[in-house]
Amino acid sequence: MNLKGKVAIVTGGGRGIGRAIVLKLASLGCNVAFNYVKNKEAAASLEKEVQKLGVKCQSRSVDIKDFAKVKEWVDFIKEEFGGLDILVNNAGIIVDKALMLMSEEDWNSVIDTNLNGMFNASRAVIVTFLKQKSGHVINISSVSGLIGLPRQTNYSASKGAMNAFTKSLAKEVAAYGIKVNAIAPGFIETEMLSEFSDEQKQKILDMIPLGRMGSVHDVTGCVEFLLSDAAQYITGQIIQIDGGLAIR
Ligand code: NDP
Repeated sequence: MNLKGKVAIVTGGGRGIGRAIVLKLASLGCNVAFNYVKNKEAAASLEKEVQKLGVKCQSRSVDIKDFAKVKEWVDFIKEEFGGLDILVNNAGIIVDKALMLMSEEDWNSVIDTNLNGMFNASRAVIVTFLKQKSGHVINISSVSGLIGLPRQTNYSASKGAMNAFTKSLAKEVAAYGIKVNAIAPGFIETEMLSEFSDEQKQKILDMIPLGRMGSVHDVTGCVEFLLSDAAQYITGQIIQIDGGLAIR
């Protein structure tokens, strides 16, 4: 597949799954902009790595929770890159705790980042996509939003809402040629998993039919597929990439 001349925005692209998506899109010829919140070094080194692939790449520290700043950034990228074709809503955090110990801040930070952040970026691109009658929105959700996981009431709620948003928006904009899908990964080896102890990781492994954690490449392969001609007739789907963890 060739995405030469296309422009993508990847939220939370500096590390982990977002970083791998940025690299995948760039390797397909796509110009890519991504934001991060605090890890400037990771973002700067990725930006250089991507530019070496011969495409445009720009990173900026923009808190995905800030509606006005996200809009300003998206408008800037559209102007600077000369268009906008793809939005990957990837920025996300976990603050895992039993509900009885969860503070208002623990709840709000996860909902504000994962759910409201997706709204902020989607709202910022949608008028452009509607006007041009094309565009892709890919939301990085989680199986936690489908089956619920203990100590993740905040995270499961945010991801479940992302899934519902995906279906609702897909129906709303399908007539304009815009595709909206979500990828729901299971456990993918990134820094996010460093919060889990070895014992917790072993328990997780025991639950995965394919017997391994996922890699970021398992996710990027699906992003590539969703953007390809082979997926032209797919919208409003929540695609599980979880080694069978949450087969329902
Ligand atoms: P990482 O923690 O490795 O990376 C998260 C990225 O999001 C970082 O680049 C971080 O920026 C950015 N980010 C966090 N908060 C904000 C914010 N407020 N504004 C802008 N950027 C922000 O996470 P993963 O790569 O593991 O996860 C990526 C997505 O995939 C998340 O939505 C997550 O919920 C989802 N997911 C992950 C799974 C996993 O097992 N890893 C499983 C299922 C879903 P900075 O570098 O500045 O910190």
